Amino acid sequence: MDIYSVSNAAYIVAALLFILSLAGLSRHESAKSGLTYGIVGMAVALVATVLLVIDQNSDYGSGATIPLMLIAVVVGAGIGLWRAKIVEMTGMPELIAALHSFVGLAAVLIGVNGHLEGSHEPLASLINIHEAEVSIGIFIGAVTFTGSIVANLKLSGKMKSDPLMLPGKNVINVGSLAVFAILTVVYVSGHEGDTLQDVVLVALTVLALALGWHLVASIGGGDMPVVVSMLNSYSGWAAAASGFLLGNDLLIVTGALVGSSGAYLSYIMCKAMNRSFISVIAGGFGIAPPSGDAVDYGEHREIQAEAAADLLASASSVVITPGYGMAVAQAQYPVAELTAKLRAKGVEVRFGIHPVAGRLPGHMNVLLAEAKVPYDIVLEMDEINDDFPSTDVVLVIGANDTVNPAALDEPNSPIAGMPVLEVWNARDVIVFKRSMAPGYAGVQNPLFFKENSQMLFGDAKDKVEEIVRNLS
Ligand code: NDP
Repeated sequence: MDIYSVSNAAYIVAALLFILSLAGLSRHESAKSGLTYGIVGMAVALVATVLLVIDQNSDYGSGATIPLMLIAVVVGAGIGLWRAKIVEMTGMPELIAALHSFVGLAAVLIGVNGHLEGSHEPLASLINIHEAEVSIGIFIGAVTFTGSIVANLKLSGKMKSDPLMLPGKNVINVGSLAVFAILTVVYVSGHEGDTLQDVVLVALTVLALALGWHLVASIGGGDMPVVVSMLNSYSGWAAAASGFLLGNDLLIVTGALVGSSGAYLSYIMCKAMNRSFISVIAGGFGIAPPSGDAVDYGEHREIQAEAAADLLASASSVVITPGYGMAVAQAQYPVAELTAKLRAKGVEVRFGIHPVAGRLPGHMNVLLAEAKVPYDIVLEMDEINDDFPSTDVVLVIGANDTVNPAALDEPNSPIAGMPVLEVWNARDVIVFKRSMAPGYAGVQNPLFFKENSQMLFGDAKDKVEEIVRNLS
């Protein structure tokens, strides 16, 4: 058997492993084996690709390819390992956005290479297909590239999370798509090597870069989770487009897997946040500017850890709704200890998890699993929302937007329509945070001013530890 056949067989094995990986990652219990399938699949793919390049290299006799490839692999793997090692859990979304931008940039560069190299095809129709692949690959790649950079800047707080409000933003987005279609037709009907083709491709690239920037800049902070999964999907399609250009089947299959699973995740997120899937893809939501603190909600009340411990000791049912602040404070361990202590006293303790709590899908579930909180008391928002009226005490630990009643009560709020954990229906609510600052979406939270709410100010980890110490 020659190397080409072996590599292609290995590609099929890798593709199957990626499918098993995705299937495994969809459930807590099988997530670890899902990761293992993914790692093995990627190792098989990498070795097969290196073998393929060595094989092709011996055909074409270009001595620089293998050393260049090895340098790229070593440098890339080194940077990847270093970043993965130092990244905090709370910094994951911005790292993921940065990685998506690399996929986009790679797709643009592969497209440019495809343009410069030409198609080497004998038939006009095949040349046209190659040119269409170049144009589509560059377009998706460039949109992904700049869109992901904006997402990275917004998620890392280097750019304001408010939506950019250019006049006629929908016209800009739809118009850009129309111009892209026209440019593609002009590009494909041109002749290989013509200056006109070069100029059209540059125009198309600039258009796509600007569109990617605009699409994500137009989306407000509260809607960023959907943007992250949408860019994940775009990066998959960008990789698939590169696969067509390079004639690499595994890249096509893997790109399609990432693209479709990312699209499905975006759909689930849209449903969870009550947003229209189509308007997300068009960058057309999150349009209302944050309403700020203009509304006077009255005075808030405060509670200290000792009194909170007394309240918990006398409760028979407690629900904990964690959010981003629990991740920042790394409060999951004392939270697990508090849970165990209360359960030992006969108090029913459950967790209510909002689908976009924290900064990445499943963020809270991962933290709670890390602290060994039993899975069966960790419930989804839909499973717990009806139980709040019969709950004695809710502990809102570092959550804000996900427990904001403005989403239901204020039609002009930027988070209007988003389903939230209706914690205010419980008898008592204790909110753990350090100040009265708004959440990620920049919206003030009327929950803090409700009669049955009390603020417990301070770092969430310190305060939960204090409560645990005070629980007799
Ligand atoms: P928010 O981000 O709305 O609020 C977190 C709260 O935690 C803040 O109000 C902050 O208040 C408090 N906090 C921060 N550090 C600490 C600390 N050390 N101790 C105690 N409190 C702390 O949290 P939610 O989880 O409710 O909402 C998530 C938001 O992030 C949503 O808007 C969602 O759309 C968005 N998002 C989610 C993504 C996802 O995939 N899950 C991805 C991208 C964005 P203070 O500063 O006063 O302490």
